[in-house]
Amino acid sequence: MKNISDRDKKHIWHPLTQHKLHPDAIAITRAKGAVLYDEENKEYIDGIASWYTCMYGHCNDHIIRKAHAQMQRLDHVVFSGFTHDVAVELSEALMEILPQNQQKLFFSDNGSTASDVAIKMALQYHFNRGKKKNILVAFEEGFHGDTFGAMSVSGLSVYNGPFEDFFLTVERIPVPTGENNEEVLEKLRRIISEDNVAGFIYEPLVQGAAAMKMHDREGLNALIGLCKENDVITIADEVMTGFGKTGKNFASEYMDNQPDIISMSKALTAGMLPMAITSCTRKVYDAFYSDDISKGLFHGHTYSATPLACSVALAGIELLRSEEMQQNLQRVMESHREFDKRVRNHHKVAATRQLGVIYALDLNIQMERYGNLRDKLFRFFMDNGVFLRPLGNTIYILPPYVVTGEQLQKIYDSIERALDEVV
Ligand SMILES: *Cc1c(COP(=O)(O)O)cnc(C)c1O
Repeated sequence: MKNISDRDKKHIWHPLTQHKLHPDAIAITRAKGAVLYDEENKEYIDGIASWYTCMYGHCNDHIIRKAHAQMQRLDHVVFSGFTHDVAVELSEALMEILPQNQQKLFFSDNGSTASDVAIKMALQYHFNRGKKKNILVAFEEGFHGDTFGAMSVSGLSVYNGPFEDFFLTVERIPVPTGENNEEVLEKLRRIISEDNVAGFIYEPLVQGAAAMKMHDREGLNALIGLCKENDVITIADEVMTGFGKTGKNFASEYMDNQPDIISMSKALTAGMLPMAITSCTRKVYDAFYSDDISKGLFHGHTYSATPLACSVALAGIELLRSEEMQQNLQRVMESHREFDKRVRNHHKVAATRQLGVIYALDLNIQMERYGNLRDKLFRFFMDNGVFLRPLGNTIYILPPYVVTGEQLQKIYDSIERALDEVV
């Protein structure tokens, strides 16, 4: 009986879904660790940590305990004029893991709003200092979210195509690949020389929505450096890369040049509740700090820094920093490296790449992002009890750190079988 799936069809409009082509949604009724259970009690290993959120496992007991205790003590606080202990504790915990130049934290609800806040910070930074700068620079295939600002700086796709005429002013540059570093740097230099560039937003080293495309550290470091020399505000969108996934707490740590602003969400609250934070340097904050009220950042959300989400984030950071979780991380990284040796020379594999627990494999064929083969692969994995979401001709794995060795092998085996039986 697919009671929930059937009833779902009546009233629910799902995100990123063309309902005429994809009428069925699978109903998930419970989850634990790296496993999802559907309404027929079939198990699926969560190979993508539920959109990169549940890194410490679904329904983690430590997080549940903290959330439960918080729920009984303090629910909602108006975060304008009031504050609360959990937000303060979270700010202190984040300062210990964020790049050292980050000093101030601004709360919102999701990754897209974290990007929008970052963009507003960058634009108003210049505005407050009496400069008219209206151009944002972004990577060609970047993804920063679905709200208007975030969508404007994202690469063009079915996501934002209908709204192109309403975008903020954006100049797009290719990612540095190692070979093209000089060209990309030169292109950015030309754009900046117009003297009206406010900010540069990028996903550091891994572009999630572009199918886990990875780019060159040195190249990115040089681009950030050039921005710094020219007072262009740099924004690292770490919504996907944050909280250990790349093998460091934040991907920005791979570069010498640190961004002025970092946006984070997804694993920030470990999949338990929605929340996002945009952090910034003292320099950015100081441009808003004034006797003039209109120089403040007048952006706010009703659920800003809601105590429950803060308690969950705090519990997540405790887990991330634990010896046990760090060992899990190393174990998954090592396991991916072994898998890579198995598949990288397969005749249906064009390329593979890995950073931290993020592993991606490009198939040697052309495929539409939402095409038939993608659907066939998705169904093959689901039939085999593995939840993966191939993107275009890329299959990627980004499992919760707590995934067991056995579960990982099951993911790998199903990918190898898919190469032989589906592709
Ligand atoms: C998911 C994502 C976003 C958007 O976050 P939402 O919470 O889905 O709005 C922004 N940037 C990156 C890099 C992401 O992966």
